[in-house]
Amino acid sequence: MAAIAGTAAPEHDRQAAPETISVTSPATGEPLGQVQVFSRDEVREAVERSREAQRSWAALSYRQRGNVLKWVRDAILDARDELVAVVAGETGKPPAEVWAVEMFYVCDAIGYWSRTAARHLADRQESTHLLKTKKAYSTYKPRGVIGLITPWNYPLELTIGEAIPALMAGNGVVIKPSEVTPLSATTAARIAQDAGLPAGLLGVVTGYGASGADLIDFVDMVAFTGSVETGRKIATKCAGQLKPCSVELGGKDPMIVCRDADLVRAANAAVWGSVTNAGQVCMSVERIYVDEKVYEPFLANVLATVDKLRQGPPSDHADIGSMTFPPQLDKIEDHVRDAVAKGAHVLAGGRRTQGRGAGYWYEPTVVVDVHHDMKLMRDETFGPVIAIQKVKNESEALALANDSRYGLSASVWSKDKAGAMNIARRIEAGAVCVNDHMIHMMIPEVPMGGVKESGLGRRHGREGITRFCDQQTIVVDRFGGAKELFWYPSSPKLEGLLRRVIVVLFRSGWRNKLAGLR
Ligand code: NAD
Repeated sequence: MAAIAGTAAPEHDRQAAPETISVTSPATGEPLGQVQVFSRDEVREAVERSREAQRSWAALSYRQRGNVLKWVRDAILDARDELVAVVAGETGKPPAEVWAVEMFYVCDAIGYWSRTAARHLADRQESTHLLKTKKAYSTYKPRGVIGLITPWNYPLELTIGEAIPALMAGNGVVIKPSEVTPLSATTAARIAQDAGLPAGLLGVVTGYGASGADLIDFVDMVAFTGSVETGRKIATKCAGQLKPCSVELGGKDPMIVCRDADLVRAANAAVWGSVTNAGQVCMSVERIYVDEKVYEPFLANVLATVDKLRQGPPSDHADIGSMTFPPQLDKIEDHVRDAVAKGAHVLAGGRRTQGRGAGYWYEPTVVVDVHHDMKLMRDETFGPVIAIQKVKNESEALALANDSRYGLSASVWSKDKAGAMNIARRIEAGAVCVNDHMIHMMIPEVPMGGVKESGLGRRHGREGITRFCDQQTIVVDRFGGAKELFWYPSSPKLEGLLRRVIVVLFRSGWRNKLAGLR
């Protein structure tokens, strides 16, 4: 059974064999390991251990916390090949994708947050507009223990990567990784603890949704990443307990290709953005709207690029891996079947990959003649499908882009960058890239998150760390004296004075103020 950092189940519960989850490679069917299903008591104990460790962790300076996290980064780099193999193994993605996204993200997050946490969370003295006899400060304190409940598509980035700002803010963290891919967080948390992170501070509790639901009851804040359906349940449960939460949910990202776009770059991005991670990205390009003037050459470029893609298990070092989660295959097939029944045409792929044997494979697929009555253009597909719709102009593209219950991110493609920014501002999405797609995820300086059903809250930027803190206001009186004007005793004289002060302060125009004093 895989070791779980800081969260080993207590001896008395170990006597009875706990229920376990067996993890197999979605690309080859090979068994990879087992993790236990944490009981409610075990989840509570993991949170208590984290809370205990958090007290002395919070007493460290930002520099000291950053130093410990840098030891962790060095240990992750020492164990990089093992870690990449674990992530690739349980997701079925090519190792290059693990290096480029998950490993890069985690290493960069440690550098970024350890450099900037002190600045983001420094006490701020606010200049008071009226009460000049007071000094007012905004300050931040760690919330305590943060519960991270996470999905299977980026099992290192969205677990350990998400934990970094929470830890830098002085919190303990307990992660409930997806039951589909629990080994990445488990392995990384063990490496982190061996490198010097205080025992129990970063716990991992493995299990199904019920373990996640238990975790909510014991932590001080929940940061959830996953589907809209689960996000709604988690936000509702947190609301019932008046517990802070952020929910980063699904997407249906549009890509708008204007008539003056660089068609080679746009087509390469369309393919990469739709197919990377086998399309299992919350910010995948899921809908492409192309100006009719450039539709044909754009489509030709897309088809030529798709034709050259290689698909295979991690050991093949191919461009695309397998699907990670078996039910995805049924969902993708359903979306493509529904689109074809309603008039769409499949120009490449369109079926489960043939001749792969074990594993869950779907071919990179290009679908055209799509419209918004199709599931393919309305619901999150989460598969390697490139859906392209021809539009008359930018206005039609914009209207279609906004015709969605999701609003995670989007992209606009045009050589006129100012014009593209104008379109970007009118798209209902938490982030829009111009001549790129989803790259904002790798720029921790800017907030990332959704509007509409894509979620509440932001990771990255200042809000990406202040969300893990309780904000506290501290006001200091400057001059003393026996009493403030409005303290006891009250009197008709005081009442009359206050009556005049209100008018002088707030009535518009000097003549009106003077008239009001009567
Ligand atoms: P999911 O919602 O099914 O599961 C996510 C996590 O929630 C898992 O750990 C699961 O065990 C847990 N869970 C399930 N029911 C629960 C409950 N009642 N209480 C507490 N925890 C519960 O999502 P998934 O299928 O693992 O992930 C895919 C989804 O995640 C997609 O919709 C994708 O768009 C989204 N996602 C969003 C982002 C983002 O940043 N916005 C990033 C990655 C993935």
